[in-house]
Amino acid sequence: MSESKNKLINHAQINWSDQSEPISTLFDDVYFNTEQGLNESVYVFIQGNNLEQRWLNCETEYFSIAETGFGTGLNFLITCLQFHHFTEQHPSALLARLHFTSFEKYPLTKVDLETALQRWPQLSDFIAPLLAQYPMAITGCHRITLDKFNITLDLWFGDVLETLPSLYLYDSGLFDCWYLDGFAPSKNPEMWSEQLFKQIAESCKKGASIATFTAAGFVRRGLVDAGFTMQKRKGYGKKREMLIGQMRTDICKKQLYAEHFRQTAQTNSKDVAIVGGGIASACLSLALVKRGYKVTLYCKDANLADGASGNRQGALYPLLNAEHDSLGQFFANSFLYARNYVALLNQFTPFDFDFSGLLQLYYDQTAGTKLDKILQAQLPKELVKKLSNKQTDQIAQLNIDQQSLFYELGGWLNPKQMVQAIFKKAQNEGKLSIKLNKQLDSFSEDYNGWKLQFSDQSVTHPLLVLTTAMNSLEFKQCKAIPLSAARGQVTYIPTNETIKKLKVTLCHEGYLTPVNKHMHCMGATFKRHELDTGFSVQEQIDNKQKLAKCITNKEWVEQIECSHQDANVGIRCTTRDHFPYVGALANYEETKIHYRNAQKRENTNNAPFYNNLFILTGLGSRGLRTAPLLAEMLASQVNSEPLPFPNDILNALQTNRQWINYLKKGKKLKFE
Ligand code: FAD
Ligand code: SAM
Repeated sequence: MSESKNKLINHAQINWSDQSEPISTLFDDVYFNTEQGLNESVYVFIQGNNLEQRWLNCETEYFSIAETGFGTGLNFLITCLQFHHFTEQHPSALLARLHFTSFEKYPLTKVDLETALQRWPQLSDFIAPLLAQYPMAITGCHRITLDKFNITLDLWFGDVLETLPSLYLYDSGLFDCWYLDGFAPSKNPEMWSEQLFKQIAESCKKGASIATFTAAGFVRRGLVDAGFTMQKRKGYGKKREMLIGQMRTDICKKQLYAEHFRQTAQTNSKDVAIVGGGIASACLSLALVKRGYKVTLYCKDANLADGASGNRQGALYPLLNAEHDSLGQFFANSFLYARNYVALLNQFTPFDFDFSGLLQLYYDQTAGTKLDKILQAQLPKELVKKLSNKQTDQIAQLNIDQQSLFYELGGWLNPKQMVQAIFKKAQNEGKLSIKLNKQLDSFSEDYNGWKLQFSDQSVTHPLLVLTTAMNSLEFKQCKAIPLSAARGQVTYIPTNETIKKLKVTLCHEGYLTPVNKHMHCMGATFKRHELDTGFSVQEQIDNKQKLAKCITNKEWVEQIECSHQDANVGIRCTTRDHFPYVGALANYEETKIHYRNAQKRENTNNAPFYNNLFILTGLGSRGLRTAPLLAEMLASQVNSEPLPFPNDILNALQTNRQWINYLKKGKKLKFE
């Protein structure tokens, strides 16, 4: 795998000057000026973009900034401080949230970042959450949330020339403002290119501005050619000049990058109905209320998290592969986000989880070959590394005597408690209303949006999101989505003197968790196409046999007691390619017509979707790790904000992906 494919991310190599200034050895340039770094950032980027005035006059409730080169995050952090001052001084301003997107090819290590930022105590309120969520060096978007300040940071690791074109662009553009940073053009000529200037221009919203510390003639001319009106301004301190500019509105145009993808809500209303009650609905409710939506949740059960999200302990680790392809990236980035999400949520409402690590065991040759392949991706060891038999036992604190992959950031969490905690946090925002015992029978379009039919009433909401797992297939609009059910029973086992020593979650064909409240979870069975949720004696036995098959001849396994009925049964809602279905719901009947000549057609853009109807389902066996970031993605999409996945992953998440692939290949669809 080559770096040029933008998959492996290398850290910045830093030299520290005598004044403790960070200097890049690769670029032979400083990250910031020791004495004046902060003031220079404010002068060049914040004042250069006239942000104070623009925030005051802002006609939307969020503002979106992009930057080339995150470096030490100084520009981001000082922008956070200024934005915080703005919201404090102007509590009734329309603008309430800040979205900051930064692209970084060589991220600093966390240690270097911490060292570099020590000199700015005035930014400590923002440095702490940044450091707590700062990602390891893996490709893609790392979404970091500073909820207390209504600030979101999307940190894209990879070369900006490759990552920026992978972002989905709305018709109206993505960014209100650009900070063009990235070492002196003479030190980094590859980045300061016509190609970059053009990509930046294409990503701009109407009236977007740009500022850069350089006054280099080729930069000015390049930005003018790309569509900006540029002017020189006095540079900071001893620097003679710098550049500022504005997007010429006639140049803004969107490129169609994501063929299966349809943007945003087609209404200004912020009244949304979510149908569900599990982890998907919980994460989405919170993501939407944070954005000012008024959410009504309809759940058919008497309690929340009575479906698949109702277990006591679920495992958390990424699904990886040799290529670190779209699927691997999707799971790795979602997993890292989920970890941060859990930690932040726990500060609000404590619930049971333990991220002390997870071992995936080499229990037979096929499993071993599969696990060895993961190592070919050369991902950071802090994400995944191989352990010997002895190391496995040391980490597990139990006699297993097998090789394993160790995910030191993995672990388990209590899904039911987590769902309840998320809903509590969402309710705390004062914009969520939960209606239990409300089974949605059907829905149809009416003048004001979507009319929802329950047995005792009908209600209309302008926006509708389905998070109804397998039950989604009961709605005529969803019947053709390729979902399949897999029943699973988890066995709750009482702890004993031996297994209570287990320190980390063990995964094999199933999983075994460390003790929590005197119990462990041993699971889970996987019965394809079975929808029955009754308890099964046989499946208790199956769970133990699965463990005994994978960890052989161990007394502690034999001693496990499962001849009781303490268990939980849920139905997984799975997809063939392991990607969930997330986004606007594609219209099946219209898709068939639109793509009837797809075999011959070259341009297959503009796929047909329902207006204001969205879905988040198909979370399979891994929803606990993916739901938090998917909910952010969907809420961002509904609200036309930058999305935390690149286009290849967005395409892979669309409900129409299989239909369109079949139609392009001339294959028959299931429902004619
Ligand atoms: P659900 O939690 O099933 O929620 C669907 C909700 O929709 C329910 O509340 C239901 O009442 C509601 N609903 C449905 N139809 C209607 C309607 N018509 N009207 C109103 N409401 C409706 N994931 C992991 O990451 N790690 C694990 O270790 C793990 N272990 C698992 C073990 C088992 C046995 C099972 C079953 C799943 C496991 N999973 C695990 C997967 C994970 O639990 C699921 O991916 C996740 O819970 C799915 O969440 P959801 O919100 O999509 O669905
Ligand atoms: N804005 C930063 C801050 O506030 O600390 C300082 C940025 S530093 C001067 C320049 C950054 O640009 C470095 O971190 C460097 O790794 C990054 N960079 C250089 N070329 C890049 C590229 N092609 N794509 C993304 N980042 C790049």
